[in-house]
Amino acid sequence: MQLLASYLSGSWSQGSGARTTLVNPATEVPLAEVANGGHDLAAAFTYARSVGSRELATLTFAQRGTLLASLAKAIHGAREELIDLAVANGGNTRSDAKFDVDGGALTLSYYAELGAKLGSTNLLADGEPIQVGRTARMGGQHVWGRRRGVAVHINAFNFPGWGLCEKLACALLAGMPVIAKPATATALVAHRMVELFAPLLPAGALQSLIGPAGSLLDHVGPGDVIALTGGSSTARTLRTHGKIVEHSVRLNIEADSLNAAILAPDVDLTSETGALFLADVVRDMTQKTGQKCTAIRRVLVPAEREKDLYEALRERLGGIAVGDPSREDVRMGPLATAQQKADVVAGIARLAAATDSIFGGTGEVTPIGVPAGKGYFVGPVVRMASTPMSDAPFNEHEIFGPVVTVAPYSGDPVFAAEFVARGHGCLVSSAYSDERDWVASFVGAAAPWAGRLYLGSGKMAAQSPGPGTALPSLLHGGPGRAGGGEELGAERGLHLYMQRTALEGDASVLKSLLG
Ligand code: NAP
Repeated sequence: MQLLASYLSGSWSQGSGARTTLVNPATEVPLAEVANGGHDLAAAFTYARSVGSRELATLTFAQRGTLLASLAKAIHGAREELIDLAVANGGNTRSDAKFDVDGGALTLSYYAELGAKLGSTNLLADGEPIQVGRTARMGGQHVWGRRRGVAVHINAFNFPGWGLCEKLACALLAGMPVIAKPATATALVAHRMVELFAPLLPAGALQSLIGPAGSLLDHVGPGDVIALTGGSSTARTLRTHGKIVEHSVRLNIEADSLNAAILAPDVDLTSETGALFLADVVRDMTQKTGQKCTAIRRVLVPAEREKDLYEALRERLGGIAVGDPSREDVRMGPLATAQQKADVVAGIARLAAATDSIFGGTGEVTPIGVPAGKGYFVGPVVRMASTPMSDAPFNEHEIFGPVVTVAPYSGDPVFAAEFVARGHGCLVSSAYSDERDWVASFVGAAAPWAGRLYLGSGKMAAQSPGPGTALPSLLHGGPGRAGGGEELGAERGLHLYMQRTALEGDASVLKSLLG
């Protein structure tokens, strides 16, 4: 069986000691192994800070952008192979796998173009020049400059391809070397991408630890940045880690999220806006088997449309074939790991005690095309809660699988915004309405609780990627439970990897510094 190596200090190293086995989650057939330790991580940090940082410092934004374009091209060249790996190791259908792999390439290409636009400057302006003296001669200017440490990227299991690329694109364009750590269970896609990327990048620009983190965080220091996508308990471990606290290491966290979808009272389910709402709910439940941080988990529907919604969901979800995702007729694969299945089953059991079943009971399913008793399958589940604002589990615990809870309301936009807030901070929430006044009231009250608000309507329906798609041009992150982090959002995505400095002096000198 293949033993996946890590790419550290400019060479591939297989590590040593006990091993973890990566499996196909549909069949439980072993695919590869990783060593749980035995890497010289101190040397990897030194290599990034000395060699990687120095190499990237010699390049302009435009040149770093060219590097990102070459990485996107490498993905395109190996697209079929990467998709096959995602199907085998991630439990992805082909469509799920494309979402991850193509999403990674698209994000790299987006930041490649941004690099070309930023050109050959070293500093980025933050706002306009300011007069701080008695006359215009004495000026002030905020600037962003490259940080000198290492960007440590720790990713979740659900997007091994996109997760690697979206963080890498921003850090490399900003000029920081990266040590990327994909989640162990689904590391095959990220491992192959690193094999493709490493020869295209300057020495030390990208290293990757494949396998458990071990002592990774013990080596961070001032100037470093850590970006974690993962669960809230891992986030807590990082927030309180001695080295991170001691050196005030910049920490960006993308964690759990109880994203809401709201149907406004003006929308009939048979309208274009209603169809968009239904398509988004069903897509978010079933795409990647609901294992998307941005997926809709809670739905609020006007009481008078509740029955129509249940009927429509039963009809659509009843047509979803669950099974081996390598089969063309399968629309939803398994959860990614045995642990994920155990967590989702426990989450549904908690939910079942406080809600009624609308579809799928507690997720029992007989998958097609897999040996009996094998695979980490859970079927789509819709539950109904009569009191939307209760302390019930659907407002407290993210179930990272194909599960939504629906609750009725009066149609009041401020109540809808309070329902969004009841998730205690989310990555994204969506509202579907063609009434501008309703939308304005909702947005004003809901915006503080969401990193992104998706406003579904008839006019944008034909072009909509749905709320579950994180776009490189818009912020990805959210307050509170969602971790408080921010990624992407065009040039904003670079700021995590740069230091903002206020300059004051002769206004003409300040102007010349920005080219
Ligand atoms: P996880 O268990 O928190 O793992 C995330 C990453 O952290 C993995 O690479 C994991 O490595 C690593 N890790 C675990 N313990 C660590 C430690 N002590 N020090 C350093 N690294 C450590 O989460 P997951 O199960 O992969 O992902 C599911 C969760 O991620 C869900 O709760 C979901 O909400 C969240 N998520 C959020 C977003 C977002 O953008 N906000 C996106 C996707 C997922 P190993 O795999 O080696 O254990």
